[in-house]
This record gives sequence, C-alpha cells and structure tokens, in this order.
Amino acid sequence: MSIPTWPVCESRTMTAPLVDPAHADPVVARSLAGAAPRSFWLDQPDAPEPADALAGDVTADLAVIGGGFTGLWTALLARERYPESDVVLLEAKTVGWAASGRNGGFCSASLTHGIGNGLERFPDEMPLLERLGEQNLREIGETAARYGIDCDFQPTGELALGAARWQLDGLDEEAVAARRLGHDVEVLDAAGARAELDSPLWVGGLKYTTGNAMVEPGRLAWGLRRACLDAGVRIYEHTPATSLSAVTAGAGMRARTPYGSVLAAKVALAAGVPGGSLLRRVGAYVVPVWDYVLMTEPLSAARLASLGWRDRRGASDLGNQFHYFRLTRDNRVLWGGYDAVYYNGGRIREEHVVRPATFAKLAAQFFATFPQLEGVSFTHAWGGVIDTCSRFCAFFGTAHAGRVAYAAGYTGLGVGASRFAAQVLLDKLHGEDSERARLTLVNSKPLPFPPEPLRSGVIQATRASIARADRNEGRRDLWLRTLDRLGLGFDS
Ligand SMILES: Cc1cc2nc3c(=O)[nH]c(=O)nc-3n(C[C@H](O)[C@H](O)[C@H](O)COP(=O)(O)OP(=O)(O)OC[C@H]3O[C@@H](n4cnc5c(N)ncnc54)[C@H](O)[C@@H]3O)c2cc1C
Repeated sequence: MSIPTWPVCESRTMTAPLVDPAHADPVVARSLAGAAPRSFWLDQPDAPEPADALAGDVTADLAVIGGGFTGLWTALLARERYPESDVVLLEAKTVGWAASGRNGGFCSASLTHGIGNGLERFPDEMPLLERLGEQNLREIGETAARYGIDCDFQPTGELALGAARWQLDGLDEEAVAARRLGHDVEVLDAAGARAELDSPLWVGGLKYTTGNAMVEPGRLAWGLRRACLDAGVRIYEHTPATSLSAVTAGAGMRARTPYGSVLAAKVALAAGVPGGSLLRRVGAYVVPVWDYVLMTEPLSAARLASLGWRDRRGASDLGNQFHYFRLTRDNRVLWGGYDAVYYNGGRIREEHVVRPATFAKLAAQFFATFPQLEGVSFTHAWGGVIDTCSRFCAFFGTAHAGRVAYAAGYTGLGVGASRFAAQVLLDKLHGEDSERARLTLVNSKPLPFPPEPLRSGVIQATRASIARADRNEGRRDLWLRTLDRLGLGFDS
C-alpha cells in the first residue's frame, strides 16, 4: 500500500526572496535575498530517511506519541530504565521536524525557564531543581558521548548582555542568587561585555560559565532517533495519532492512526501544542507562539575575529523582547527571537514558517548589533512553534486512570528540560516515587489560558504592553504589573 504523507513545510523550495527588495532597507534586502525558508539544522545532506508509516495494528507496552526531544528521550529512557518493555513511537511527520529541529540549541540546565522565574514560583525547591537540572544536563552530554551522537555538545555557559542601562537592573541580585545556587557567574561592565563578544551596543551583562551547553539540535534529534532504533524502539514516521481512547475490555489504550493502530498498556503524550487535540486538558494550558530565526553564511576568519567571541559562549540580550545568538561549528551566526508571534485563534499553519516582516526586522537588528558584519548574507530563515504556558516551564499530568502521562509547556527552554520531562513521564506511568516525583513543579499546573476569542485578545494586549515596556526603559504598565502580581505572563 502506498501511504500519503503529511506536507512537510521545511522542504519547500524557495521561489521568491523572503523580503520584498522594494520595501526593505537595501542592506537588509541584500542579506536575505538568498535565504532558504527552512531550518538550517534540518537542511543537511545526511538527514535520515524517514521510517515507514504504520500500516496495520500493533501492540506495545508503551506508545510514545511525538518524535521531538520529549518523545525521543521518553522512548530511549524507557528502554534503558525498563529493558523488558516494548516501545513504539509515532511521529506525525518526521522525527525532529518541529520545535526540536528548529531551535537555538541552547541546552540549559534550568528546569524553570531561568533562575528568576524559578525563584518566584518554586522558591523552596530551587536548590533541588537546580541540582536535578545540572545532573540532567550532565547526563545529556554523557548520553551523547555514549551513543556517539555527533551534536557538538559544548558546555560553554552563556552570556546575558544589556543594550540599555535599564536592562542591567537586578543583575547584581541575580548574580548573588545564582552563586548561592552553585553557579559560576560574573557581572560585566560595558568593557567586560565587549571583551566577551564585541558590539557597540553593550553596556554590561552577566557571564555564566555553568548551567548551559550549546548543541546542534537537529543532529541531537537524529542521534536520539538512531539510538532509539538501535535500542529496539519501533519508530513510525508520517504517522499521526488521530485519536486516543481507553480500551473497555482490558487495561490498555488505543492510539488510532490513518492506516492502523497501536494498542498499548501505557501512553506517553509528547506532542507539544497539538497534543491538545488528543487530550483536551493539555490544550487549556498551552498556546502556540511562533519564534523566528536567521542563520548567516559561514564567517570568514577576519569577520569572526572582528566579533572577538570568547569561548563560543551562547548569548542573549536582556530586553523583554530578546534576541538569542550563537556560533555554529562552521562559524555561522544564528540570530533569533524578539518577535514572539501569536496568530489569533492559535492556528498553526505551514505558511507561518515564513514571516518577511519579522525576518527584515531581525536582519536590521542584527546589523545594528554587529555593524562589523555588514555585507554578510543569511542562508536560512525560518519560524517554529513554542509551546508556551503561563508559568513558562513544563507541566505534567496523567489521564485515563494513569495510563496516559503528558508533558508540555516548556516555553522556549525545552532542549534540556525535555529529558527531565521524559524521566517524569516514566515516573508517572510506572508509579515511581523519588524526590523528582514529589516536586511541586511536577505536581502543579500553570493557570490555564482563557478560551478563544478572549485568549487572542489577552495575548495580543500582553504582547503590545511588553513592546511598550521595551520602548519605555522597561517600565511595566498596569496590565503587566497586574499579570506579574497574579504570577502570569507571556514569554518565548
Ligand atoms: C525557533 C525556536 C527556538 C527555540 N530555541 C530554544 C533554545 O535555544 N533552547 C531551548 O531549550 N529551547 C528552545 N526552543 C524550544 C524547544 O525547541 C522545545 O521546547 C522542545 O524542542 C520541545 O520538544 P518537544 O518534543 O516537546 O516538542 P516538538 O519538538 O514540537 O515535538 C513534538 C512532536 O510531536 C509530533 N506530533 C504532534 N501531534 C502528533 C500526533 N497526533 N501524532 C504523532 N505525532 C504528533 C509533532 O509532529 C512533533 O514532531 C525553541 C523553539 C523554537 C520554535
């Protein structure tokens, strides 16, 4: 039987420049003229051939739905922790095609979307959360080494750089709190910041040498896929689970797919925002926020030297709307973030991968930050969906009398945290007790978003307020202060 596949937008061929040359600054238009609208990380000649789609009915001890980092780690750790268990993984398109293959590759130890957010929400648990996060990060590096996953895992730490004085408020306090939690962190003045990575914009910042590694996310996903296959996980690609239901006679769950089904004792739902279509309770807590990224051509030795990028440390700037930037193995610069876009109604559409206005804005901001790179071209420009929740870090739960466990809501910091989440999913499905399983972070939920159309209104109002705060030296208006008091927010 020939099985039709879902459209895969990252393989779409370019037919027109991403930015209209008539309406953009000429430097910006030129820089984007040849950019391909797909993730650089997945646009590699050695991308794996997709596995066959599922055709027929199969059984398993564990069915994992979703082949991003959460699903891949869950499947691999299931085989490591319970070697007797038979594991099937269903992926709607191809492994790693979604957020896991499109991100910045900052693999953070933080399980709480940063220390500040963690201290606000889980103050008593932070020492334990940080210890478990550091252990998780270390084990990601060890796993990559053990399975020979060539994902350029580099434990560089990271830089947080301020481009305006108000962005430096609170950095001294953050450094003190971070040191108390075991981090190695240094407060930088303008000269210190420029000595780490040269831009005329920097007025100061923080340098962490702990708590973060840089990875190539596409290769990490593909390497985990290979490790899963070698460990005996049966992976079916181009196989969306279209429904999930309890089997009345027996204790299992059935996941239906277009051309078959999986009958499994346990199900790990690792499908990001679309998981809400299989389990409605997930959908109340997550919204799809689009985040956009540019990738330059490889820099010449002279241009690289003009940046003075010490120790290849990943970096971000400190506005509420922030950029993240890093070097690749072949000395390209990835530059992403700033616009965090919510399309009213929460639609996830193929055409959203390309957003010319955001690409032009990002390119202009790139050259304003690094004027010494004028003339550099971007080879790739893409967008991807972040599963955002109102507390900015993953939440977990079970359904169908504990036979289904789910995780979502990483809000832009899931590269590292997805492995921790996979451990939690297995704890929940197997009823394991541990300090991890007892965490408040693991057993509490964020506040849900209101239903549409109110949801769109609230999110767009919050985005507008955030942009205003950035234009207004960080001053937060009444709306943002009210959300802050309620412990609610919108981030990427
Ligand atoms: C542009 C961008 C930049 C980012 N930068 C960073 C960063 O630098 N550091 C960081 O930590 N995080 C970053 N993130 C977030 C990070 O990528 C995610 O948190 C992480 O990849 C989430 O992994 P996941 O497996 O949960 O979700 P995904 O990678 O989205 O995978 C979910 C998978 O489930 C599949 N699926 C959905 N529905 C079904 C179904 N019904 N049946 C079968 N399969 C299904 C999807 O096809 C998809 O492959 C970024 C995200 C984006 C978009």
